[in-house]
Amino acid sequence: MARIVQKFGGTSVANMERIRNVARLVKKEIDAGNQVAVVLSAMSGVTNQLVAYCEEANPLYDTAEYDAVVSTGEQVTVGLLAILLQGMGLKARSFAGWQIPIHTDDAHGKARIVEIDTDDLIGRMNAGEIPVVAGFQGIGSDGRVTTLGRGGSDTSAVALAAALNADRCDIYTDVDGVYTTDPRIVPKARKLPRITYEEMLEMASLGAKVLQTRSVEMAMKYRVNLQVLSSFEDIPGTLVCDEEDIVEKEIVSGIAYSRDEAKVTIQGVKDHPGIAAALFGPLAAANINVDMIVQNVSEEGHTDMTFTVPRSDLGRALKVLEQVRDVVDYRDLSHSDTVVKLSVIGVGMRTHAGVAQKMFSALAERGINILVISTSEIKVSVLIEEEYTELALRALHTAYGLDAR
Ligand code: ASP
Ligand code: MG
Repeated sequence: MARIVQKFGGTSVANMERIRNVARLVKKEIDAGNQVAVVLSAMSGVTNQLVAYCEEANPLYDTAEYDAVVSTGEQVTVGLLAILLQGMGLKARSFAGWQIPIHTDDAHGKARIVEIDTDDLIGRMNAGEIPVVAGFQGIGSDGRVTTLGRGGSDTSAVALAAALNADRCDIYTDVDGVYTTDPRIVPKARKLPRITYEEMLEMASLGAKVLQTRSVEMAMKYRVNLQVLSSFEDIPGTLVCDEEDIVEKEIVSGIAYSRDEAKVTIQGVKDHPGIAAALFGPLAAANINVDMIVQNVSEEGHTDMTFTVPRSDLGRALKVLEQVRDVVDYRDLSHSDTVVKLSVIGVGMRTHAGVAQKMFSALAERGINILVISTSEIKVSVLIEEEYTELALRALHTAYGLDAR
């Protein structure tokens, strides 16, 4: 007997027929003799609608009330699934986050899970009951409902799997696994049977939308056996696991891209100690995440600085930089929001040279200009003009030998 957490995303519970399908997938695990706890998202589109209501009510809404509103989508789906499971003769009941409780901090709208009490849940599961838990939500120290940030039900599921010491955490979604890159853009993209936690973390944070980044962080920390699979097709998905559990490792496992990028260039800024701090300090204080940074060699004591910020933060970033102009005294401020970041990812880079070079030459051969480069131990990222996204992704996919054979 195994203990399994099954999580179903918004498209998997989008309507009654699909929730019925979910009930069948749950029953299948129970019939196989396993213990199951289920975590659900809201029906697809519902959370967006709830967020829109809040914004309509007041763009500067109280985030605690926002949580009161947006957490309701999951309460509908868990109740409905429990009813359907009961109708199949199974013992099931729904749980809101506070009923478990799933304790979080008080950062409404982006709360972090602090602790989950599992004694009651384990007792119920031992007695043959199926807890159906609302994802995305918890309870803060002040007793109010919190939510975990968009896509947060993945994190609810992984956290619950860790707390329950589950043998597996199956994330059911509308794709059948993790691909080498976006198959809608690169038809030759391949499904990966396995991917390491580190690679999955980079893929998620660099733009692949299969799993919420925080859920991968948590799976890695607690070594949760994570599987991504389709709720519509009964085929094996992708296993997220330790490097040791992958026999045939490619040097590069995948290529991610993110359009949520904007480039800012500050020209003619004095090249002396403290300038970077004076520029990036106020951006950090405004909660703007600066990602790639390059500084040019200085000429006559002046230099240029280019960096990227999330596209949605560009307006705010420019405002902050205008405000520090008195202090920093730069000549010119320019920006572009038609850039995209491509990242080549693979733990094999740690031990193989030439990975970045291959990327640069593949792009050069297609006449694609690289605007900014950044690297880490297991990834190389470049910023290019958005219009070349498709061309570049396909070129890189081929260059690294990832194309389906
Ligand atoms: N329903 C929430 C959202 O749309 C949480 C989730 O689906 O993971 O962001
Ligand atoms: Mg999701």
